[in-house]
Amino acid sequence: MVYAHPGQPGCPVRFRPQYENFVGGKWVPPVEGRYLDDVSPVDGRVFTRVPRSSLADVELAVTAAHDALPVWSSTSPVERARLLLRIADRLESDMERLAVAESWENGKPIREALSADLPLAVDHFRYFASVLRAQEGSLSQLDPDTVAYHFHEPIGVVAQIIPWNFPLLLAAWKLAPALAAGNCAVLKPAEQTPASVLLFIELIADLLPDGVVNVVNGLGPETGRPLALHPRIAKIAFTGETGTGQEIMRYAAENVVPVTLELGGKSPNVFLPDVFADDDEFADKAVEGFVMFALNQGEVCTCPSRALVHESIWDEFLDRALERTRSLVLGDPLDPATMVGAQASAEQLQKILSYLEIGRGEGADLLTGGEQRSVPGLEGGYYVEPTIFAGRNDMRIFQEEIFGPVVSVTSFSDVDDAVRIANDSRYGLGAGVWTRDGTAAYRMARAIQAGRVWVNCYHAYPAHAAFGGYKQSGFGRETHLDTLRHYQQTKSVLVSYDRKPTGLF
Ligand code: NAD
Repeated sequence: MVYAHPGQPGCPVRFRPQYENFVGGKWVPPVEGRYLDDVSPVDGRVFTRVPRSSLADVELAVTAAHDALPVWSSTSPVERARLLLRIADRLESDMERLAVAESWENGKPIREALSADLPLAVDHFRYFASVLRAQEGSLSQLDPDTVAYHFHEPIGVVAQIIPWNFPLLLAAWKLAPALAAGNCAVLKPAEQTPASVLLFIELIADLLPDGVVNVVNGLGPETGRPLALHPRIAKIAFTGETGTGQEIMRYAAENVVPVTLELGGKSPNVFLPDVFADDDEFADKAVEGFVMFALNQGEVCTCPSRALVHESIWDEFLDRALERTRSLVLGDPLDPATMVGAQASAEQLQKILSYLEIGRGEGADLLTGGEQRSVPGLEGGYYVEPTIFAGRNDMRIFQEEIFGPVVSVTSFSDVDDAVRIANDSRYGLGAGVWTRDGTAAYRMARAIQAGRVWVNCYHAYPAHAAFGGYKQSGFGRETHLDTLRHYQQTKSVLVSYDRKPTGLF
């Protein structure tokens, strides 16, 4: 049954006509009184508005976070973990409403929001509540009378800037480890998708002390930039485009603060010749792995947007891949049968359409798709057919991030050739390898320059596996215990229990 749309009877979500910033535990209008329209990509209509914040709003949020820091950073790990678990429970108890909000605002199919985004966000808070308690300081004996104690201390007030493709999940990826480590946060959601994050904050607002989490809404240059440049910010965690990430590094240099960057990708998905060797179930799984380029309409940093298919299986593989791709159901994101929803914004739709032209222009073979689509009743929405191009890895459609349901396919002759093509990219975020040959899988997984290599699976994001980029896909890790370290600084306290002078002076 299709979920009722916001504004229709029976819809689990009721958006307010206007949202505010969340500062010091209160909903606060923007100082300059300006707002941005929030448009649903499902039908192209404005459904709410959010603050268009300026430096003055950032100032308020950073101050509120600093006011909260002494208490939060000295709250015991046991208590912090308890509160993170309560956030997880609250989120879990309201998943359907938030999933509908997320689908409406971002355009992603409700089946994905319900089965992936929301449960993963819940688990993320639980994971960091657990690892926090398992984490211990250490003590090293330096000589019989001297010891060094190591303490993991919070960094302070952290700035967190996120994009529009997984609003709730990326908010969880940022907030859970930061809060677990005892930091206070100022979060800036993407201007295209602030509302679902604000609904989440509304839901958990009473659980945390005022000022521990603050949210400022607005545009990148007007809100994100002053936040990242703020002299009282102790760390910046950023997810977004590589070009913006370069700017963020420059801002971080101004105040000499650490930065973690989760940036773009052009991930290769490699299919070795044995995927069709007499096990039809495995072959089906591999073809489904190929079609993962359409997950979240291709708006995934690890979208397997380059497929590398061994030349010996080229025809059979593409026949099956085309059939599977053409069977994908595109439509209303709030219909549980929909597999491909709406692109997140009009700008993103135009960017994808321009790459469809670029692909045609540079001589790639358009095997299927390639057109904008209109969904009956949702004519104002932003829909694009899942598209397969065949071509060469030096084409722009193989080298540049399209961030849409578009895959560029090429062939390779042997494992070394596949590794060479896979690594011929400025990015190094994700990769897939499909084979039952364990040695080949291992060799490729080690040789491909990417922070995450999936073998015989794709697009799995458990909280306990480290995720992050090589090369221009960024640095630092999210998810996994590694992330906690990015939100902590280590203090060593070196103590002498020897009564005798050292004798140096
Ligand atoms: P974007 O870089 O345009 O924007 C991301 C965020 O940065 C937004 O909140 C935006 O308002 C803000 N921003 C923009 N300019 C800024 C500036 N000058 N100073 C401070 N903040 C600024 O990216 P996007 O278009 O929203 O998102 C898509 C990109 O995100 C893709 O490249 C995708 O690959 C990447 N992404 C990466 C990961 C990952 O984990 N590696 C995950 C999701 C998305």
